[in-house]
Amino acid sequence: MPSRTKSQLMAENADLRARLAELEYRSANRHSVEGTLPESEIAARKRIQYELKASEARYRRLFETAKDGILLLDADTGRITDANPFLMGLLGYSHAELLGKKLWEIGPFRDITASQDAFRELQTKEYIRYDNLPLETKKQEHIQVEFVSNVYLVNGTRVIQCNIRDITDRQQAENVFLRTHEELLVLVTELKKVESEMKLLNRMNDLLQTCTTQEEAYQVVGMMMSELCAGRDGFLAIFHASDQNLQGVARWGDEALVEARFSLEDCWALRRGQPHDVIDPQAGLLCRHFVHPPGIGYLCVPLTVQGETLGLLCLMDVAVKKGEHQVREQQLALMVGEAIKLSLSNLKLREKLREQATRDPLTGLYNRRHLEDSLSRELHRARRGESPLCIAMLDLDHFKNFNDTFGHQAGDLLLRELGQVLREKLRKSDIACRYGGEEFVIVMPDSSLADTCQRVEEIRALVKKLEIRFGEQLLGTITISAGIAGTREHGGVTMRELLHAADTALYAAKQAGRDRIVVYQEKE
Ligand code: GH3
Ligand code: MG
Ligand code: MG
Repeated sequence: MPSRTKSQLMAENADLRARLAELEYRSANRHSVEGTLPESEIAARKRIQYELKASEARYRRLFETAKDGILLLDADTGRITDANPFLMGLLGYSHAELLGKKLWEIGPFRDITASQDAFRELQTKEYIRYDNLPLETKKQEHIQVEFVSNVYLVNGTRVIQCNIRDITDRQQAENVFLRTHEELLVLVTELKKVESEMKLLNRMNDLLQTCTTQEEAYQVVGMMMSELCAGRDGFLAIFHASDQNLQGVARWGDEALVEARFSLEDCWALRRGQPHDVIDPQAGLLCRHFVHPPGIGYLCVPLTVQGETLGLLCLMDVAVKKGEHQVREQQLALMVGEAIKLSLSNLKLREKLREQATRDPLTGLYNRRHLEDSLSRELHRARRGESPLCIAMLDLDHFKNFNDTFGHQAGDLLLRELGQVLREKLRKSDIACRYGGEEFVIVMPDSSLADTCQRVEEIRALVKKLEIRFGEQLLGTITISAGIAGTREHGGVTMRELLHAADTALYAAKQAGRDRIVVYQEKE
């Protein structure tokens, strides 16, 4: 038998029955009219009856061997009239347990209301389909089925045929597929996030490497962390060895959450020298550097390079989610910390080198190289702003004698004291330099000749009154001579001309008896 589908067989069956019914009707009528049946009709009738039997046998065979469950119901009463072996195996009920029962009287369809509603719907629509219907077998196993039922006429009786296909395995495979797909989507999103974070981190690194001062670096950190943390709060604090305190220098997010200054003791991460994370702020060990106790978890990363504490990086809302996500966020925080601390330590080193290259180690004043750089810059600025600029060249009087009397070390101490006097007496904008052995130059931008004279005069008087002790010994007093020159009074001069003018005035002061100030006079 060529493989005919169930529905083809059912149609064929119905057609045969219809044809048979028609023949029977016709023969009955003719019989009454003519009394006998023609030979040909008897033969046709027999042939159809034979075909009908054969068709029924085929249908029965299909019913018995089908790999789907088939359930037949009386459409009017809803009672089960037949069930195929596959269905019994699937649901775990015997023929006897099913026959004569209404659909909702057996376990799998015990959700009576839904079954009754479905039955009523079937009675009116004659077709119903559920793609994914959960059923419970007699052994209380949960299975998923595809449920299709329709109504047709058999010998004038309306029959409901329900085809029930077990799709549990397919469904499980689909669920696994869906889950894997979702996991994959999450992974892709995570990877995209990691990629964009890495890009931002690289950009921050690039920017940090081009910073020339720590302040610039703080600005970069604040800006880039706003992007990296996307709305979450955090801050960077820097350790100042001078007062052993940390100071907040950059923050991101909405809230200012850190105290302006706090001590090493206020942070668990700094105390322990390792990252400190708080997952539950109600239960964790909270640091004391917050303005208000935090309501969410956070992570503190100490920034230490070769045992030296540089600062602290604090990120809110990072350690809250446990598991892989948290590990990744913590890793990112540590990478950010590494980038920041390396850049800060580089900048510190660079600033130290710059300092060493521009400062005189004995007096702490700027050296001659720095004077030349800054004086030419200041001269340019004064010219552009048409503002005055004066310089004073100072020299210790008879310093050779001083050294001879009290020794070279005492001489060094005096030079150091003089450096201290100059640093204290001068304005921030003034530039004081050790020009030579015991010679100093002070650059005074925006200072008139009269003001310059007055302030240098004050310095001269102060130095004269210095009482310096070298060990037990009180050192003798020392005087200074100074030569002063100004741009306004002495025309559009170059740096060399200005220094030369001050030196000439200093020479004149020495000639005039020392311990005095002389303003440069141009020769007639
Ligand atoms: P004048 O009043 O003419 O300037 O006399 P002076 O003795 O100060 O001048 P001079 O230029 O002859 O001597 C400068 C002295 O300064 C010589 C040197 O021993 C001393 N000196 C230069 N540099 C240093 C230093 O770094 N430490 C000490 N202790 N002395 C120094
Ligand atoms: Mg001298
Ligand atoms: Mg000298």
